[in-house]
This record gives sequence, structure tokens and C-alpha cells, in this order.
Amino acid sequence: MHLIPTPRKMELKSGFYYFDGEMPDVKKEVKKSFLTEEGYRLTVDSDGVCIEGGSEKGVFYGEITLKQILNNYRGMLPYIYISDEPEFDYRGFMLDSARHFLTVEEVKKVIDACAYFKLNKFHFHLTDDQGFRFEMKEYPLLTEVGSKRRASEFSAEESVREEYAHYYTKAELKEIVEYCHERYIEVIPEFDIPGHTTTLLAAYPELSCTGEEIEPQTKGGVFEDILCAGNPETMKVIYAVIDEMCEIFTDKYFHIGGDEAPKTRWIECEKCHKKKAELGLRNFQELQGWLMNEVAEYLKTKGKKAICWNDALKGGNLDSTNTVVSLWLERNNRSIEWANSGKGLIVESNVPLYMDYPYAVNSLEKIYKFNPKKLKGLTEVGANSILGIESPAWSEHIRDFTELTYMCFPRWLAVAETAWTGGNKKGFPQFLETTRFYCDVLTEMKITPAERDVWSGAPQKAVPQLLKYGKRMLSPESVIDFIKVQKNELFGGGK
Ligand SMILES: [Zn+2]
Repeated sequence: MHLIPTPRKMELKSGFYYFDGEMPDVKKEVKKSFLTEEGYRLTVDSDGVCIEGGSEKGVFYGEITLKQILNNYRGMLPYIYISDEPEFDYRGFMLDSARHFLTVEEVKKVIDACAYFKLNKFHFHLTDDQGFRFEMKEYPLLTEVGSKRRASEFSAEESVREEYAHYYTKAELKEIVEYCHERYIEVIPEFDIPGHTTTLLAAYPELSCTGEEIEPQTKGGVFEDILCAGNPETMKVIYAVIDEMCEIFTDKYFHIGGDEAPKTRWIECEKCHKKKAELGLRNFQELQGWLMNEVAEYLKTKGKKAICWNDALKGGNLDSTNTVVSLWLERNNRSIEWANSGKGLIVESNVPLYMDYPYAVNSLEKIYKFNPKKLKGLTEVGANSILGIESPAWSEHIRDFTELTYMCFPRWLAVAETAWTGGNKKGFPQFLETTRFYCDVLTEMKITPAERDVWSGAPQKAVPQLLKYGKRMLSPESVIDFIKVQKNELFGGGK
């Protein structure tokens, strides 16, 4: 039987239940007392089909499993008993509409496919150096100026000298959030601060340390101009964006970025020096820690929990009461120490979970075999602090929906399997067969997965992938170089 994710416990019995039409009648019941919130039991016997869930959400997952079973059989169901619940509460996928924009309809197609494999957290990267995609009322220039760049020059092959201008209206974002909620997916907006904020500085140059005019970026990268931490106006704008985003995004988590924020400008800025001294902080990494804590505290007053990229741990003063950390690239063991002291960690390790990396680097099998609880240095407390995993699809090199589905599918099926089952897996050959089976289902959902030759990432098979989309896609060598540079230069130094 082909099911993704694999249920925790499944007993196939002899006999079949026959029914007319597409779907059988289903008896549904919520039983809070002895099932976890997302847990469910599915029984098919001579009496028919019964789904019991720990909540409405659990019932929903039972229904998905039923739909998947029906892909295997038509007009009848085998007698079966399934008792299932996920290993991880946090089973995430991330879309980046800042670098390259996705329409509401495209986002919905991805959501449909992710819900079908029981992913439950949609992290929406909405602001970055190359685009501010949120319709902002109180500071309208964030949208008017921040949503437009004059060109797109993410690689030698993509060098387009025309304006790229997109944003989501509040009504569109509400529609996306409702669409997710109908599928029991929580939406986590990301407002990336204090780095990756060129678009904010383009709209309001007074928010930078220098006050100089600047344009939204047309290339990928890490940029030195970031929000000035010593300017009270910075906090005012941050809180205003959060206020307006919280009107739309009503779920628990809110991502505030914190990654790739060089301190070059802060070190040269009188206001930042003054702020650091006033707070009695030892260095500018601590100043960033302070900034993240302030914002997390503000989010707490709105009933939210902040998420920060693990770069924000550099100051050593990130407050764990209001914040969980998402680990994308480990250095100096800080994320592991964070988890080992019982603080919440979401694992989104670039290897194997980044979808903008080629299959040659992050193959289907590598993702399938990944066990976040086995990260190097993790103690038992640390393993128990892992909230789950998330797989980001950064879009500097993923230009459109076709490229997105090619890179994310079927790899997100392996992400879903790992997120739901943890280390409890049945074996890759079986998963491979099941993945092949679901490629047809994905096609029916208007999602075109990568062809099977590519999944293994073997060099001779990965070449067609590179040819198909041109040299513009990240090459395995460029990814390896990137990781080396990141480790040595960005994270090695202790500014
Ligand atoms: Zn400053």
C-alpha cells in the first residue's frame, strides 16, 4: 500500500468493504481523551469506515489517509486498522516570494500538495533586499518603493533589465491564510530584520545608519546596509509592520529573520554606539540579540512566539522565553547548545533541506534518511527540544512556479515522511516506489515533479537537470563553495 507519510501502526486484514461512488460514507468522531491533537485512528471493517481524531485536525489527517488509500483501490477498501500520530508538531515548508514572486493561485497549488502529505506549517518569506511584498498602510512607501526593483540580476543567465514589481494585497494574503486554515496549515509570515532590509531603507533611508539613498537590490547576497539599531524610528516602523501583519497572520509563530546581518555599519554609527553603551552591552552581536529580544517581547504582547534564524545566537543573549531558533547552517555549535539547554529548535539545515540546492547535493534519499534528532552533539534533552523540521525553497535561483515544483517535488514528500515519522522509517526502496506512485497524483494537482532520473543526484543524472534550466541553477560546486565561505567568513569571526 502506498501512503506518505507512513502511518505509525497499520494492520491490513482480510476482506473488503465495497461502496458506490467516489467516497464511502465515513463515521467521524473527536476523542480528545486518548488521542494526541493530530493523532487519529482509521478503521475499515464490515460496519464501514470510521475515523476518530484527537481533534478536528486529527480527523482531517485520518481523512487524508483514507484518500490516499483510495488511490490504491477503487470502489472498495481493504479491511484495515491504522493508529497514527506525528513525531513532530512542526512540519514546515517555506516559500520565498521576495526574490521571485508567486501568484496566489500558485501558492494555493503548493499548499494543496503539502496538505496532502500532512505538512502543517507554511513559512512565507515576504520581505528581503530584493522585494517587500506586503501591502503596508501606515508606511506606504514600504510597498510603493520596496515592492519594485529596476532589474533582476541573480546570475549571468538571468540578467533582466526591466522593472520587477509585485506585492500581495491584504485581501490576497487573507485568502491564502484562510485557504491554509481549511487544510489545518498554520501560516508563519517572515519579516526579516535587521539585515536583508534594503527595501525598507530604499523606502525610508533615515532608518539606516548612514541615511544615504539606496535602491532595492537586483542581485542576491548579503548586504552591509541594515536597519540602524540606535534609531528609535526603526523600532516604530518594525512594530507598525508587525501590527499590520498580525491583522492577517493570526497563528502562533512569527518569523523575524535575524540572519546575515553584518555589523559593518553599526560599528561606524554614532547612534548604534550610543545605544550599545546605554544598554551596557559588550559588542554589536549583543546589540542584535537585544533588538531581537525587544521585538520578540512585542510579539508576546500579541500572543505570538518569535522565530529567529540561528545567526541571532551570536550575541549569546537571545531570550528563549519568547523565541525559538531555526537552524539553517550551524557554526560554533550554538544551536546545538541552545537545544541541549532545553530551548526550542526547528531544524532547516541547508544540507539536506534547502530546495534551491540541486538534487546532486540534496538528493531524495539524503532527505529521506535525515534524522534531525541525530544532529552531531545533540543530547537527549536536545533531541527532545527539536520542534520539527522545515524545508525552505529560496528563490534567488528558482524563478517561477515550474522551476519551483521541479525543485520541491518530489523532495518535499521525503520532507513530509521525515517530519511525520522521525527516525522510524521502513526503508528507502519502498519509499522510492511510493514516491513514483504519487507523482501521478501530483500531476493531477497541477504540480509537475522532477523526472525520476534526477532524484538520486548522481552526477550523470543530475546533468540533465542543469541543462534543462541552464547553468543559471546553482551547481553542486557553487553550493559547496557557498557553504565553505559562509562557515569561514560570516560565522567564523566574532565581531
Ligand atoms: Zn546605526
